[in-house]
Amino acid sequence: MAAALPALERAAQGAKVGAVLDFLRRSPTKLLIDGKWTAAKSGKTFETINPANEEVLALVAEGDKADVDEAVVAARRAFEEGRWRTITPHQRGRYLLRIAELIDKYADELAELESLDNGKPVAQARTIDIAGAAGIFRYFAGWPSKIYGETNPSDPGMFNYTLREPIGVCGLIIPWNFPLMMAVTKIAPALACGNTMILKPAEQTPLTAIRLGELLQEAGIPDGVVNIITGFGPGAGSAIAEHPGIDKVAFTGSTEVGKLILQASAGNLKRVSLELGGKSPNIVFPDADLASAVKNAMTGVFYNSGQVCAAGTRIFVQRDIYDNFVADLTAASERMTPGNPLDPQTRLGPVVSREQFDRVLGYVTAGRHEGARVTIGGEAVGGKGYYVKPTIFADVRNDMKIAQEEIFGPVAAAIPFKDEDDAVLQGNATTYGLAAAVWSRDIRRAHRVARALKAGTVWVNCYGVTDTAMPFGGYKQSGFGREGSRHVIDLFTQIKSVYVKL
Ligand code: NAP
Ligand code: MG
Repeated sequence: MAAALPALERAAQGAKVGAVLDFLRRSPTKLLIDGKWTAAKSGKTFETINPANEEVLALVAEGDKADVDEAVVAARRAFEEGRWRTITPHQRGRYLLRIAELIDKYADELAELESLDNGKPVAQARTIDIAGAAGIFRYFAGWPSKIYGETNPSDPGMFNYTLREPIGVCGLIIPWNFPLMMAVTKIAPALACGNTMILKPAEQTPLTAIRLGELLQEAGIPDGVVNIITGFGPGAGSAIAEHPGIDKVAFTGSTEVGKLILQASAGNLKRVSLELGGKSPNIVFPDADLASAVKNAMTGVFYNSGQVCAAGTRIFVQRDIYDNFVADLTAASERMTPGNPLDPQTRLGPVVSREQFDRVLGYVTAGRHEGARVTIGGEAVGGKGYYVKPTIFADVRNDMKIAQEEIFGPVAAAIPFKDEDDAVLQGNATTYGLAAAVWSRDIRRAHRVARALKAGTVWVNCYGVTDTAMPFGGYKQSGFGREGSRHVIDLFTQIKSVYVKL
C-alpha cells in the first residue's frame, strides 16, 4: 500500500479535505454486506479513475454474483427478523434525519470525493449533489409516520381495511452522473417504507456510495438493512436484476440496460421501476423572455457537462428568431470553458470516462457528417483529462442522429420550427419522454404546450428545476414509475386487504 501512495496523491491532487485522502487509503476495496466490510469473494478489484487527470483514485472491490447472493441472504434476514420494518415509524424517521445530519457534517469531504470520482465541479457537487442528498433524507424522514392504510366501506358484519407494507428486499442500480444523489434518491424512500436493500453503484463512480455506507453505520442503521456491492453491470448488476431472492428492482440508467432489467425481472416477477434516458425538447417562442431563455438553454444542456438525463438537448427555436437566438446562445456559451473541477470557480468539468469521451466525440463527428453546423466547440480540449468543449450544432433536423440519440455530453442541437403545432409535433417526435420545456409569455400557449408534450416533467419559463416533493419519471421509453413525492412510496410498498368478520 505504501508504494501506492504517491500515485494516490497524484490522482487526488488539489484535494483540500484531508479526510478524502484518509478515505481513499482506508476502505474502497471492500463491499458492505451484513454490516461488515469484506473483500469480494473472487478477491478481484477494479480501478476508479479521476476524469480530470486520468489517474487511478482507488481500487474498488469487484463484487459479482457470489457476493450478491450473500448480500441477499443478509438483506432477507434483516427484513424477516424485522430489524428495520418493525421499528416504530417515528424512530425510523429519526434515523433518516440522523443520516441527513451526517451528510451535512461531512459535506465538504463528500463534495470533494464526488468531484474527484465524477469530474463535476466541486462547488456544484457541494450545493447540488451533497446538499440535495441531505435534503432528500430530510424529506423522506417525514414519511414513515405518514404511510397510511385505509378503512374501507364494508357490509355491517365486516370490518375491512388495508395495510401498506414494505415490499421486502430491493435491488437499487444507479448511474454515474449524480452518484450520491442517485443512491440517496432510492435508499431514502426504500428505508422510509421499511425495506432492506442492496445498492450497486456505477463502476465509474463508486466512492461516495461507499462513504455513504460508512455514514449509514455511523447513524446506527441495523446490519444487513443496506448492503453495498460495487462492481460491473454484467456481474453484480445482472445478478441483482435476475435474483430470485430480490422482490423489487429500482433502476436508473440507459434505456438499453433498462430493457435488460425488465427481461431479467420475469424470472420471479419482481417489481420494477425504471428511470431511463431522454432527449428533451426545450421550446422557445418569440414572445418569451429571450435573455432568460438563452441563459437557461445553455445551462439546461451543458450543466454537469451534459450528463443529465433530463438535459435540454434539443433546443427548438421559432424560425423568425432562430439565427439571433443561436448567435446569442453561442456567445453566452463562450464563457463556459471547461476547467479543473476542484477549482471552486469552475462551472464545467470533464466528462466521466474515456468511454464517454470517445462516445461524445463520435456523435460530434456524426453531426458534422449529417450536415449540421458547429457554432462553437466541436472538439476535445486536449491534454490530460476527458474534457470536451461545449458544442452547439445549428441547422439540425429532428431526424438526424444527433437529435434522436442520447449523447450524454455537452452537445446541443438547435432546431428551427414554424409554429406551435410544428413545435409540439417535432418535440414529441422521439422515442423518449423524460422532460420538456416551453418558453413563452403567453400563459394560454404555455399551458397548451405543456399539456401537448409527452414528457414526465414540463418546465415553463425555467429549466432543470427539481424538487423531491414532485414526482419525476418518464413517458414512453424514458421508463415508468415516479420517484420523489408520495408516488415513490407506492413503488416501495404493497397493499394488503384485511377482511375481519364481526
Ligand atoms: P447504464 O450503462 O445503463 O448503467 C446504469 C447502471 O446499470 C450501472 O450501475 C451499470 O453498471 C448497471 N448495468 C449495466 N449493465 C447492466 C446489466 N446488464 N444488468 C444490470 N445492471 C447493469 O447507464 P450509465 O451509462 O451509467 O448512465 C447514463 C444513463 O442513465 C443515461 O441514459 C441517462 O439518461 C440515464 N439516467 C437516467 C436518469 C433518470 O432519472 N431518468 C437519471 C440519470 C441517468 P456499470 O456501472 O458497471 O456499467
Ligand atoms: Mg471515477
